[in-house]
Amino acid sequence: MEIESLYKKFKENYSVSTDTRKLPKDCMHFALKGENFDGNKFVSKAFEGGAKYCVVDDKSAIINENCILVEDVLTTLQQLATFHRISIGIPIISLTGSNGKTTTKELIYSVLSSQYKVKATIGNLNNHIGVPLTLLHFTKDLDFGIVEMGANHLNEIAFLSKIAQPDYGLITNFGKAHLEGFGSIEGILKGKSELYDFLRKNNKTVFINTDDDKQIRQIGTYSKTITFGKNLDNDYNITFIKANPFVTLNFNNVEINSQLIGDYNYNNIAVAVAIGSHFKVSPENIKVAIENYRPDNNRSEIIEKGSNKIILDAYNANPTSMLAALRNFKQLDAEKKYLFLGDMFELGSEAKTEHQAIINFVENNFESHIYFIGENFYNTKTQTKTKTFRNFEELKVELKAIQPTNATLLIKGSRGMALERILDLI
Ligand code: ATP
Ligand code: MG
Repeated sequence: MEIESLYKKFKENYSVSTDTRKLPKDCMHFALKGENFDGNKFVSKAFEGGAKYCVVDDKSAIINENCILVEDVLTTLQQLATFHRISIGIPIISLTGSNGKTTTKELIYSVLSSQYKVKATIGNLNNHIGVPLTLLHFTKDLDFGIVEMGANHLNEIAFLSKIAQPDYGLITNFGKAHLEGFGSIEGILKGKSELYDFLRKNNKTVFINTDDDKQIRQIGTYSKTITFGKNLDNDYNITFIKANPFVTLNFNNVEINSQLIGDYNYNNIAVAVAIGSHFKVSPENIKVAIENYRPDNNRSEIIEKGSNKIILDAYNANPTSMLAALRNFKQLDAEKKYLFLGDMFELGSEAKTEHQAIINFVENNFESHIYFIGENFYNTKTQTKTKTFRNFEELKVELKAIQPTNATLLIKGSRGMALERILDLI
C-alpha cells in the first residue's frame, strides 16, 4: 500500500501501537518482528484488543479486510512517521549524545512547555522504533516537538535524523558509551556527529556548548550555530556556581537552584536555559521550570533512608558517566562516604582497561567503604582497600554486615546490574 493511503487511514484516529498488550482503541497496529517473536502471529489478538487496522508483512497473517499488507512493517512505520512529520511541519528539536539525553530532553521540555505547547519523546523511546512512535504522537498544533535519539553504532543517528528531520539539534556530550558498537572514541565522535552532518546539509541550526572542546572540534566552521556556556562571548552566557550537592547556576543575574546533583548536570541544564532563552521564554519561567524538575527512574536521585543519604544513580553507567559521578561524589561535603559501584557493560575489548581505570581512580581518591560488584570488576585486579563481589547475590550476603549508618552513599552501575536493589537491603 502507498504511504499516502496508509496515512489517510492513520489520520482516522492518529494512534498507533506496536505492542498487543497496550492497544489504544481503534489504533493502527504495526505487527513488528523481533528476535524472538513475529508480530504477524498476533494479528487476531491485536483486533481483539481494539486495533482498527493491522499492518503486516506476511500474507498468511491477513485475516480480514483491515489487515494491510506491506513489504516490511518496520520500514513502513518509519516511512509513515516521516510522512507525518513533514505533513505537520512543526519545528523539531532533536538531541543525541553519550550521556544525559533524557535528562536534557526533560529539562528542555519543562522550560519550553512553560510558554508553549510541546510534546517530547516519552521516557527513553529513542531508537529506530521509538523515534517513529515519538513523531507519530506529535500533532500539527504543537509549537515544538522534542526528539531524543540514541545510538550504539555508526550510521544510526544519520538514519534517525532522516526520519525525524529536525530543525534544531544538539549533542549533550561525546563520552565513552557503547564503545563496543562504535569501536573507538573516534567512532563515537563520528557517530554522534551524524546529527551535525544532517543539520549542516539541510541548513538547520545547532545549539553548541562551547565549554566542550569536542563539540567545537566536531562542528568545525559550521555557521548556523547558537552558542552557550561559561564564556561571556557566547550567545547565552550561563555561569556554573556550585554543585553541593545540587547544581546552582546563574543566567541573566538570575540564580537557578536545581534539584539535580553533579556538576555534569550543569551542561544538561545550560542547554535547556539556552534553548528557552533563544525561544523567548522569560528568565522567571526558565528558573521555575528548572527548579521544579526532579529526576526520577534512578537517574542521579537523592534519597534519604534511615540515617543515610543515598545518591541513587543506578539507571546506567559507562566510563564517562562513572567518572563524572565519582568526581562529583569526591567533592561532596560528607563525613562518611560509601561507594557501591557495579559493572559497566557494552565496552567490548576495552572492558578490562576501563574497569581498571575506575578502580585506580577510586583507590586514589577514596579511603574506605568501597564495594565493587560484578564479573568485570571481579576479574580486574584490585588492591586491598576495596572489596569486590562477583555478583549481586554475593553482595547481598555481606550487606547484612556492612549496614552503613549516618553515611552518604553513591550507588552506580549499568542497567543490567539493577543496583537499586541495594535500597531494599539497607
Ligand atoms: P540512555 O542512553 O539510556 O538514553 P541518556 O543519555 O538518556 O541515557 P540520562 O538518562 O539522562 O542519559 O542519564 C543517565 C545517567 O547519565 C545519569 O544518571 C547520570 O549518571 C549520567 N549523566 C547525565 N548527564 C551526564 C553528563 N552530561 N555527563 C556525564 N554523565 C551524565
Ligand atoms: Mg535516554
